[in-house]
Amino acid sequence: MVKLKDPEELRDMFANTPMENRRIFSIVAHIHHGKTSITDYLLSKAGLMADTEAGRKLLTNWDVIEKERKLTIFGSVINLGFEYDGKAYLLEVNDTPGHISWTGEVSRALRCSDGVVLVVCAVEGILTQTETNIRLSVGAEGCKPVLFINKADRLISELRLSPKAAYERLDTIIRGVNDYIRRVAPPQFAEEWTSNFKEGTVAVGSAKDGWAFTFPVLKRKNITPEIVFEKYAEGDKEWLRKTLPLHEAMLEMVINHLPDPETGQKNKIPSIWKGDLDSEVGKALLDTDPNGDLLGVIAKVVMDPKRLRAFLVGRVFSGTLKAGQEVRLLTRKSVQRVKRVGVQEVTDILDMPEIKAGNMFSIYGFICPAGESFSDSNIELTPFEQIKYAVEPVVSRTIEAANPQDIAKLDEIVKMWTLADPTLLFTFDKETKKTIISGIDPLQLEVLARRINDHVPINMSEPVVVFREKVEQRGQEFHTKSSNGHNKIKGYVEPLDEKTLELIKTRKVTADQPEKERARILKEEAGWNMKEARNIWDIYKNNVIVNMTAGVQRLDRLKQAIINVINDFVEGGPLAREPVMGLKIVITDCFVHEDPAHTGYSEVFTMTSSALNMSFLTAEPRLYEPVVRVDMRLPLHMMGEATKLISGHRGQVIDVRQLEKEGEAIVTGLIPTIETMDLADELRNATEGRGVLGYEFDSFKPVPSALAEEYIKEIRQRKKLPAAIPKPENWKRFIYSRH
Ligand code: GDP
Repeated sequence: MVKLKDPEELRDMFANTPMENRRIFSIVAHIHHGKTSITDYLLSKAGLMADTEAGRKLLTNWDVIEKERKLTIFGSVINLGFEYDGKAYLLEVNDTPGHISWTGEVSRALRCSDGVVLVVCAVEGILTQTETNIRLSVGAEGCKPVLFINKADRLISELRLSPKAAYERLDTIIRGVNDYIRRVAPPQFAEEWTSNFKEGTVAVGSAKDGWAFTFPVLKRKNITPEIVFEKYAEGDKEWLRKTLPLHEAMLEMVINHLPDPETGQKNKIPSIWKGDLDSEVGKALLDTDPNGDLLGVIAKVVMDPKRLRAFLVGRVFSGTLKAGQEVRLLTRKSVQRVKRVGVQEVTDILDMPEIKAGNMFSIYGFICPAGESFSDSNIELTPFEQIKYAVEPVVSRTIEAANPQDIAKLDEIVKMWTLADPTLLFTFDKETKKTIISGIDPLQLEVLARRINDHVPINMSEPVVVFREKVEQRGQEFHTKSSNGHNKIKGYVEPLDEKTLELIKTRKVTADQPEKERARILKEEAGWNMKEARNIWDIYKNNVIVNMTAGVQRLDRLKQAIINVINDFVEGGPLAREPVMGLKIVITDCFVHEDPAHTGYSEVFTMTSSALNMSFLTAEPRLYEPVVRVDMRLPLHMMGEATKLISGHRGQVIDVRQLEKEGEAIVTGLIPTIETMDLADELRNATEGRGVLGYEFDSFKPVPSALAEEYIKEIRQRKKLPAAIPKPENWKRFIYSRH
């Protein structure tokens, strides 16, 4: 084992370790399945932490809030040197947080990784988040997986399973993981990427005690699983730690079964880059060519919460990134100078003159949203696919500066944090002059609010759930005129079908895609008629604007203003000013006055928004609410408590798994987010503290009609809107008639 404390040594390793001796991977797990303990253990082995402290000090949780809550929030990168079979290996671990509030970090870490270690707890088995992690890592990011089954000690010490029963349990987990891998992996890898104990792609161990084994390790050392059991039953952890140290099994598995960066890029590029793979840059990406055109991705914005400074972490996939050079940000379309270039060492940058294709980097010099692609400043290339997030912002809090002179500063700080975590959204309410931050769950917002408060004192509201407004059928077509009567527009709205929504969510269909290709996909996969599919003006937050007018003169002049009015409308619909989702807006006719003096923004606004509101209100609009999928793990005899809690919160039980031998059950259900605010406490109280709750965003579902009215009333009151929902008649005066 090489110790990496010395920067010179680390620089040397980065410069001289051949590609085949390098691995870039992430470790992902359901919360509390042991990822942090494993990472700490590896850190201790790299000499970054005293051995005895591993598993307790939780070094990767470097932010204070994380320590207090014992949560890993920021993903960080750890470089490990490891000697195996007489060769020096350089391993880069992209640490990821386990808590659902920071699932965005997981997606970003995976963007830079070639492989992934899936950690699953031997006792709890596969939970909702395990499936999400497999979908994101193996499916979306094309990372090859290996499996680490942790907490095996508990099978023996707590559940007192016989070796045979324990083996069956492990087998169930392996089969479950493999079923899921087959479903989501790139088709050509569906079989190859499954985990297999005999082949050494599964490790079993205990991060707490620091031991683990794979089949090849046992075989080499001439040890049977029965001996492991006996030693554990005798309480001889020392023997286990010495004979079967965790890092040996883990790192051997990583080295032998996860791809090096060159192989990794060949596997991964087709999943994350949709440009032409036969083009010059396509080939350079597949070949990890340091002499090709520069193309890389900024996957993380690592903020120092105290100094409010950020450095950017990412990977160069082709070409070479040099300190001091200018890069073009491909979706932001701006040019920026990279001041410092290096590699991340837990919380610092170790400077290097350049970073070649196939390597991760840390840079300092500018800030941009996580997920941005970049090329050399003088060329324009196809950016990488957007990073996929498995969540939606469904909770929000209103914040305002305690001192009015801090408004601008607050704005700046909130913007920085949303760059770092695009799963956070913020909007400024012009009427109340308050900032609204929205995120995945109350915890994410609480941590953000505390971080902001460290720099600008703020007042804030309690978290509230963010609903959606959606129409159920096609609305009436309205022909409206502008306030001055000189311009007219005609159109209607209707709901987008599920298939189209899925294409938008999975980004198979996007606003900036070539029109022809988009039309073909919409026609082939969602049955659109070609004429509509060829005439899309914009796709904004799951809503599509279609221009079906023919031969309208001067329409180009108003196009952008019309789009802006529509996009503003979908930010907050007429029911309760909650975001509109899944709306197709079809413009069927338009008349534009020839004199620009008569076609100002307010004219466009009145005619467009009146037609929109009226059509929307005649299209059976409904309030939709976010629903989460919850897992409740609890003692078998208390199972009834879980089903009672779920049904008592307007929920629906969708699966019950009885783990007979362990005397436990896992109850899975769907519950509206608004009903989950105190759920963890309620579960704890109902089960004498023995129930554990996991949850994840599932979907938006219609609010039952009996409740919708009450909710709308509450929201309108909170937002200080007039109590009554507007009626189409409110806009009657803008209806155009020839007489
Ligand atoms: P993470 O949320 O996935 O990062 O999980 P942690 O590493 O923080 O572990 C969650 C809890 O499980 C902590 O209390 C750990 O001490 C405990 N834990 C982790 N690994 C093991 C293990 O192998 N055996 C046992 N019995 N407990 C473990």
